[in-house]
Amino acid sequence: MFFEFGIKDIIDIVSVALMLFYIYRLMRESRSLNVFYGILVFVLVWLFVSQVLEMKLLGSILDKLVSVGVIGLIVLFQEEIRHFLYNLGAHQKAKNLIRWFRGSTEQEADKESIMPIVMACMNMARGKVGALIVIERSTPLDDIVDTGDVIDAKINQRLIENIFFKNSPLHDGAMVISNKRIRAAGCILPVSHKTDIPKELGLRHRAAMGISQDSDAVAIVVSEETGRISVAVKGEFQLRLSAEQLESILTREMSMV
Ligand code: ATP
Ligand code: MG
Repeated sequence: MFFEFGIKDIIDIVSVALMLFYIYRLMRESRSLNVFYGILVFVLVWLFVSQVLEMKLLGSILDKLVSVGVIGLIVLFQEEIRHFLYNLGAHQKAKNLIRWFRGSTEQEADKESIMPIVMACMNMARGKVGALIVIERSTPLDDIVDTGDVIDAKINQRLIENIFFKNSPLHDGAMVISNKRIRAAGCILPVSHKTDIPKELGLRHRAAMGISQDSDAVAIVVSEETGRISVAVKGEFQLRLSAEQLESILTREMSMV
């Protein structure tokens, strides 16, 4: 048998290897590595039976299983697929460039909405009032907003403090800010299952981490226990922040919308 092996084939093989590696990494992150190994074994058996041994009956049964299995996998891994597509679509560098061309007027407007948030967080930290504020960026948070009560108000320091005040009906859960408006409060966020989060951080912090893993939102936490302010962005925590640090993180992150 004569084999022609060209540059196209090398690209083909490297692409498949990269794809397998990416799937492996995604599955490792979502702790479903055993499923990956299972699928790998199944595909190897399928190829062996239908291509090498050319067993017609068993091959056709496995063929059918593969076509149904693909739909099953999409259902099983819809979260991971969503993550993957989200990462593909988040061209942050291109967005920054557009922002840079647009000039500085928007940055001044950002400051007007950032300062009330920073001031409210400082006051709440001083009074040890727990708070969880999520600032929407390019990933829509409509599903999160639906879990709480719609507010739709201009960002206002006293309103933020009032909502998180201990006996306020909306103090429980998260506030969602989007398009420079307070959109909702009392919202339920996905809780992160990350294992490397410090033990002393409870559910409020895990919820902030969860939304920062699932979207590009910025999540601010004011701890009721310690009065400390933390921010979660893209699955990373920045803990024990001062007013200046919080302001600079928010200014930086908001300029990357
Ligand atoms: P703190 O330092 O303020 O005590 P913590 O990280 O230790 O925060 P908990 O003490 O467990 O967290 O905080 C519980 C509060 O966190 C709840 O009363 C609720 O307001 C909020 N919270 C918990 N889980 C979620 C969630 N999934 N979505 C939104 N808010 C949540
Ligand atoms: Mg706690």
